Amino acid sequence: MAGSNPEATRLLQILDRLRQVDPAPRPGLAYDDPWQLLVATALSAQCTDARVNQVTPGLFARYPGPRELAAAAVADVEHEIRSIGLFRNKARNLVAMAAAVAGHHGGVVPADRAALEALAGVGRKTASVVLGQGFGVPAFAVDTHVGRVCARLGFAPRAEPRMVERSITALLAPSHWAEAHLLFIHHGRRTCAARKPDCLHCPLGALCPSAGKV
Ligand code: SF4
Repeated sequence: MAGSNPEATRLLQILDRLRQVDPAPRPGLAYDDPWQLLVATALSAQCTDARVNQVTPGLFARYPGPRELAAAAVADVEHEIRSIGLFRNKARNLVAMAAAVAGHHGGVVPADRAALEALAGVGRKTASVVLGQGFGVPAFAVDTHVGRVCARLGFAPRAEPRMVERSITALLAPSHWAEAHLLFIHHGRRTCAARKPDCLHCPLGALCPSAGKV
């Protein structure tokens, strides 16, 4: 996709530099399979990965799969995830989501965007994470870090998720989308922070139109 498009070339250079810092980017959420990834990602909205990782081992031990979670009382799930923000809403959504996976998909998480987005509490970002990280289906998930970093890098006029997704996926081969998502998240957490981006020590300084201007 780079071809003669200078923006595609710049994006590849940016990803190369991020890879030098972060050669094997790993997801921050702990999971063993697509079901656990779906649950953990749904829990991570407005919450840190570390906090989700503290809660999910107990949750998965008590409710090992969608059938067990579908049969749970919402109040019990609330109790299990009570240290997580928005836990009441999330508990209700988890039980409904589990019921749909158990009832409509044979207990197996669907590797299909429309089916994922039809699940309770699952939006485009969560579906993209599950497709990209859980199934290896090309998807570029835009969370708050990815949106902010890509906007500062000049790939979108603002950090609006669909705008950023369209822009990056138009410039980058699908085989790189899931990795790019992780590289941008890690860069946003480590260097290009929301309030105080460390432009002075950023490996992308020469390629970033916002360097020193945020
Ligand atoms: S130069 Fe600054 S604004 Fe640009 S990506 Fe790096 S930290 Fe972010």
